[in-house]
Amino acid sequence: MRDFKISNDPKFWQPYDRKHIWHPYTSMLHPMPAFMVAGAEGVYLRLSDGRRLIDGMSSWWTAIHGYNHPRLNAAIEEQLKSMAHVMFGGLTHQPVICLAERLIELTADPLQHVFFCDSGSVSVEVAIKMAIQYWFAQGKTNKQRLLTVRGGYHGDTFGAMSVCDPVNGMHQMFTGVLPQHLFAPKPHRDDGNWDDGWMNEFKSLLESHRDEVAAVIAEPIVQGAGGMNIYSAEYLRRFRKLCDENDVLLIFDEIATGFGRTGKLFACEHADVVPDIMCLGKALTGGYMTLAATLASTRVAEGISADGSGVLMHGPTFMANPLACRVAMESIDLLLESPWQERVEAIEKQIKKELEPCRHLPVVADVRNIGAIGVVETKTPVKMPEIQERFVESGVWIRPFGNLVYIMPPYIIKPDELSKLTGVICRVMKELSAQPG
Ligand SMILES: *Cc1c(COP(=O)(O)O)cnc(C)c1O
Repeated sequence: MRDFKISNDPKFWQPYDRKHIWHPYTSMLHPMPAFMVAGAEGVYLRLSDGRRLIDGMSSWWTAIHGYNHPRLNAAIEEQLKSMAHVMFGGLTHQPVICLAERLIELTADPLQHVFFCDSGSVSVEVAIKMAIQYWFAQGKTNKQRLLTVRGGYHGDTFGAMSVCDPVNGMHQMFTGVLPQHLFAPKPHRDDGNWDDGWMNEFKSLLESHRDEVAAVIAEPIVQGAGGMNIYSAEYLRRFRKLCDENDVLLIFDEIATGFGRTGKLFACEHADVVPDIMCLGKALTGGYMTLAATLASTRVAEGISADGSGVLMHGPTFMANPLACRVAMESIDLLLESPWQERVEAIEKQIKKELEPCRHLPVVADVRNIGAIGVVETKTPVKMPEIQERFVESGVWIRPFGNLVYIMPPYIIKPDELSKLTGVICRVMKELSAQPG
């Protein structure tokens, strides 16, 4: 057998990773340190040097039940015995059907049709294609643009990038090759001061471009990676009304917010608004495998086929992977059987109480929270390697970006573990405030 030198000696692993492997949004030449994880269990990550960290990130919104869950493990193992994967062209299987039923039953009635794909970004691509194909099939071939709000994040593929915030969306350098969509102002928080004027620009953009706009796309209630902005549910009602009045479809990207994170099963329930198309991902498999779904209303599904030829032009190789569908189905059952609402509500209360003392520190610009999400926004960007090291030394895994130090822990986190997360954030903010420059 061929001798793989590096693989055989753990002391080479980290240096090899550093030299050869890209991490997200990272330089290959001067990467930030990456900590070596040896295992994960419940709410803890175990580093290879033996340190245990309380996980504040749920591996980017995904691991809502914590890690290494016996039921999710068993579901995958059981599925593995029958098949890991089969192509989805011309074939189907029980895991995908059982998962589709769950998604259709749990979301609002009009959403009756599901497209399964590999990742959140791809589900956004599919949503955009659905919207454009829908109007194309109605003979409205000019309706190819999208309208969104600033501050959004919808993924890293080209179609998804084109609707991310044009400044904060991390993709400015691609502006020249992206389709040019329309951007209304970033939505505001409503502290009982809703102002109709907040919709003016959105409304006039929509009305003046209604013949070109296929759909409005937005993350309901919480804008995630574009800035962790929490905004008024009233926007969602206005989006729906204005879309209906102007013959435009409404897409909600619930990839980050879905499956209870904001306190409702889906964030659009905060406003009782139903989109025409909905994207799900991230927590869909409980953090086990990559899988996403685009749900569409019957109106959209039928509309796409209205010109007779209308087949949806998409079909990833690993579409509806049985292992991923099986674990997603188990994750949903586990969530519904758990007291998730009480858990998220308790996390919300605790985060609010325990992060609030940060608000008046000199380095802090804002503190905000909803559901199992807590955000401390700093006035200037945090110094990443330094703050990362402090968090790890303190026994927590919190991964800030830019001005944002935020947590969205697994729902199973215990009060003392959550206090540790918030306590470390407050302490580090205090230390930074005391530090000159
Ligand atoms: C993470 C995210 C995406 C992209 O999902 P990937 O699985 O990373 O491709 C899209 N939209 C939102 C709101 C997200 O949070």
